[in-house]
Amino acid sequence: MSFELPPLPYALDALEPHISRETLEYHYGKHHRAYVDNLNKLVESTPMDRTSLLEVVRGATGPVFNNAAQAWNHTFYFESLGPKGGGDPSGEFARALLAAFGSVDTFREKFSEKAVTLFGSGWAWLVRRRDGSLDILQTSNAETQARTDETLPLLTCDVWEHAYYIDYRNARAKYVASFWNTVDWRAVAKRFAG
Ligand code: MN
Repeated sequence: MSFELPPLPYALDALEPHISRETLEYHYGKHHRAYVDNLNKLVESTPMDRTSLLEVVRGATGPVFNNAAQAWNHTFYFESLGPKGGGDPSGEFARALLAAFGSVDTFREKFSEKAVTLFGSGWAWLVRRRDGSLDILQTSNAETQARTDETLPLLTCDVWEHAYYIDYRNARAKYVASFWNTVDWRAVAKRFAG
């Protein structure tokens, strides 16, 4: 058995003009694929090639963890976005967001600040804690909020330079501002509902 690169759930140009086809050709087609390919090489003929990706993320360290976590994070990121993204969330999830942050705009501001200020490469996350509260967190490099049951990841923004350099060069803040036009709130709300 080996781990597979999941299909991108939309066309490569579906997120334009916010995220270009060229970015997705590299980000999905080369970076995400490389994490999956590297993971398969690392776990070949070990007991880990017969477990789930999440189990590997939670049990591994070093290069196996890095590639497994990046494989998981990228699938989660790409499945957070969509061609009909943007706007505001609705329903029970939206009410939870308002209760936690006061307004959707305030949430976007706070999340964007975490994404823009993260030093180096990493990820910004909206998570639901075990007590039901919502929080915004940062992780560096491959580190992931999927590592334990303490936090349920709801939304992530990839702020590795490879996520935005083709479209925005060094202007991470412009990428993060544009990211909101691609967020698929229905996917996020589904995760919140568990
Ligand atoms: Mn990435």
